[in-house]
Amino acid sequence: MATRLYTHPIFLEHITPPGHPERPDRLRAIERVLDDDAFAALDRVKAPEGDEATILYAHPADFVARVRAAIPDEGIARVDADTTASPKSWQAVITAIGAANAAVDDVFTGRADNVFVAARPPGHHAEKTTAMGFCFFNTAAIAARYAQKKHGAERVAVVDWDVHHGNGTQDIFWDDPSVLYCSTHQMPLYPGTGAKNETGAGNIVNAPLAPQTGSEVFRDAFLSRILPALDKFAPDLIIISAGFDAHHRDPLAEINLTEDDFDWATGQLMQRAARHGDNRLVSLLEGGYDLQGLAFSVAAHVGRLMKG
Ligand SMILES: [Zn+2]
Repeated sequence: MATRLYTHPIFLEHITPPGHPERPDRLRAIERVLDDDAFAALDRVKAPEGDEATILYAHPADFVARVRAAIPDEGIARVDADTTASPKSWQAVITAIGAANAAVDDVFTGRADNVFVAARPPGHHAEKTTAMGFCFFNTAAIAARYAQKKHGAERVAVVDWDVHHGNGTQDIFWDDPSVLYCSTHQMPLYPGTGAKNETGAGNIVNAPLAPQTGSEVFRDAFLSRILPALDKFAPDLIIISAGFDAHHRDPLAEINLTEDDFDWATGQLMQRAARHGDNRLVSLLEGGYDLQGLAFSVAAHVGRLMKG
């Protein structure tokens, strides 16, 4: 048993315009840092191609068709104000979904203790019928529903520590008490959702953080709100929407976390996964736009996952 890592070269072929923060170099930085001997025990697996039918677990067919039609044959096409597609984007998106679903298979069948999926594009801003914020389809939401349909999971928790609120995940599970969605995020910040009083069917826990706050406020949000909600919900599976843009170096936000905070939060979620869900934990890369902050944070996160 080990920590598994899914990657795939197709994730480098989702091309964004020059100067766009969500760029292939993000994955190259992650690849470099995980090349270190400290990660020799990682079970590295090439992501399988995804099953397009699983997109329908979180999005209607006409929306899926609309996204597909927006993929250009050449060049770069605009899908939303800040979301763009290149010719290989569809394959990257489908492979990201395939990796996330395979990670769910792995933790339910015991092929891995836990899994980190280093994929792009990210997914947590994609609502049921809207691609936005660099995201096309909501990979975490699809994986959560996949766990329910394929493995009979009754309660799945998605914990989202990306510095932006996962409006898409909240939208998809708004009235679905079988999924708990917990988020720490800077507020105010894009996309503007994520207030404390947005609670869905009692299954949404938003812990907004004020700009310029750091470790102490973040850890307090976990200890006072998110971890108690997880203990009450007792999930069969925890999926982390693991964005690392709350790192102090990140150019897109003003939260001052360090890699130690991601190490700590990972450990806390591993404890809950052990307590309620036979250790089942799947982590999906979302944001993180400073290459050094991202690489160091992923190293801390994956290092903690490997410690078991
Ligand atoms: Zn983000």
